[in-house]
Amino acid sequence: MSTNLEILSCTKCDLHKTCRNPIPGTELLPEGLMIVGEAPGEQEDKECEPFVGRSGKLLTESLGKVGLERSDVFITNIVKCRPPNNRDPSPEEVATCMPWLGKQIAVARPKLIVALGRIAASHMLGRSIKITKEHGMIDVFPYDENILVSIIYHPSYVLRNRNTKIEEDFLYDLEDARRIAYGATTNAEIHAEGVGRTLNTS
Ligand code: URA
Repeated sequence: MSTNLEILSCTKCDLHKTCRNPIPGTELLPEGLMIVGEAPGEQEDKECEPFVGRSGKLLTESLGKVGLERSDVFITNIVKCRPPNNRDPSPEEVATCMPWLGKQIAVARPKLIVALGRIAASHMLGRSIKITKEHGMIDVFPYDENILVSIIYHPSYVLRNRNTKIEEDFLYDLEDARRIAYGATTNAEIHAEGVGRTLNTS
């Protein structure tokens, strides 16, 4: 069974009891750009599709501005089921769900994963993140040194700060991620380009 189909019948935590559907993500695409958010919201839960509410519309629109179609990238979340009332997922829920993301990463082998927002970035990198300080930084995925992680603002934060430097930075960071995922081919090239304003390889 494909990973996405397996996720649809997951009952590993209680979130499956309160959500309409687990949402595996968009179609798994190999070796490109993967975008990871926090957890589905109400609209996503209704449509069984990640990032289709207000944040999702901004994400799709922003992808277009940096030359990408939504269908060019693989979009998912660290937690696949909507937490009740859109509360933050608990550490236990994240820990229970993360192995699904691990499987998706193993299948898709993305070159670069965009972590949207503090919560996704903290869980992807296994350390606490200060998003206003660290957005735009490129790090190495702790579980596979061939995969890079780009830390970017969550679109819901951008929605609350339209037409400000936050929105400008969001687009700049997204464009940077696109260029790394589809442009330079190795970490060495990325270093040489000086693209990773912080490429943390320690
Ligand atoms: N916010 C997220 O983090 N993920 C979604 O899928 C929708 C909104």
